[in-house]
Amino acid sequence: RLVGGMDGQWEQWIYRALTFLVTSCPCALVVSIPLSFFAGIGGASHEGILIKGSNYLETLSQVKTVVFDKTGTLTKGVFEVTAVHHSDMDEQKLLEYAALAECASSHPISKSLQKAYGKAIDRSRVTDIQESSGHGVTAVVDGHTVAAGNSKLMVQLGIPYHDCHSVGTIIHMAVDGQYAGHIVISDVVKPNAKAAIAALHKAGVEKTVMLTGDRAKVADHVAQRLGVDEVHSELLPADKVAQVEQLLSRSGGKLAFVGDGINDAPVLTRADIGIAMGALGSDAAIEAADVVLMDDDPAKIALAMRISRRTLRIVYENIVFALAVKAVCLVLGAIGIANMWLAIGADVGVMVLAVLNATRALSAGKE
Ligand code: ADP
Ligand code: MG
Repeated sequence: RLVGGMDGQWEQWIYRALTFLVTSCPCALVVSIPLSFFAGIGGASHEGILIKGSNYLETLSQVKTVVFDKTGTLTKGVFEVTAVHHSDMDEQKLLEYAALAECASSHPISKSLQKAYGKAIDRSRVTDIQESSGHGVTAVVDGHTVAAGNSKLMVQLGIPYHDCHSVGTIIHMAVDGQYAGHIVISDVVKPNAKAAIAALHKAGVEKTVMLTGDRAKVADHVAQRLGVDEVHSELLPADKVAQVEQLLSRSGGKLAFVGDGINDAPVLTRADIGIAMGALGSDAAIEAADVVLMDDDPAKIALAMRISRRTLRIVYENIVFALAVKAVCLVLGAIGIANMWLAIGADVGVMVLAVLNATRALSAGKE
């Protein structure tokens, strides 16, 4: 009776139900959202920015605080020896001790000392190498114990040292437990660093912070030149983590840490998003980071943020557009105005348009 009573209408309701079913198919969303993220990541990689997943693209768009390491991140990490002070030893001899003691370290300071020494290093002359991060190294060179590092290392070893008034990074040297003078080395800021900080502020970053294990004198000088808002110096790797944790609890938005991974791999993982320098950076940093800048250019951070925001805008455009068109078609279908052809057309049409829109994320870096 029920079926019989509805007679002709029966067929019509089934037709409308099927129209409804076709219209409500979510394939425009299912296809276009991952595609937009893929395209965004692809567009970023064109610019030399490796983003390890679409969730990082989303976090990147919400960054409000950017924390930088100094050496190798804002500066080139290529130190030149500018002076040798308070040394009774021949300068070249002191440099030789320093270069030999540093022969196993991958720190930019040690590489620069080896370069300044200029000769081939015979590793068989060096034994008992011990590197302590944020301090320096100790080793036995030709039977003499050599220590090369900052004032913290000298304090640790109980060796009195001379302070230095030059603006520069200081490598205090001790040979056989006796102070042997210090080597003043200096680094240069990356040509793009100042513009990079300005671009971040322009992109809506509220605070830029520099954390470094280097001396306050050098850190303040660099921070002032670059226009960084806040600077903390003479930090050990663990102090950097503590600083980042404090900043995380204070700031509203997301926090990004940018470093080269030498003594800062723990902070790279701790931050909401870790950005590593790919060319100079250590393998540990590239592993620990969520975003890798292949050419070490700090200006790429603001670019990455722009790409992420544009990609997310495209994703939202697609969601709103697809849902709006579908809602209209569903209403039309329910009251019997839309037929099956309109439903199929709307479904496929919305999907094609959403996919085309998603491919715009590929060129997100160009604008
Ligand atoms: P940054 O935070 O600037 O990257 P690090 O944490 O790597 O600096 O190092 C902090 C400080 O520790 C350096 O400025 C230097 O004085 C000292 N130091 C670290 N490693 C070495 C090393 N291999 N040789 C000499 N000094 C070192
Ligand atoms: Mg470093």
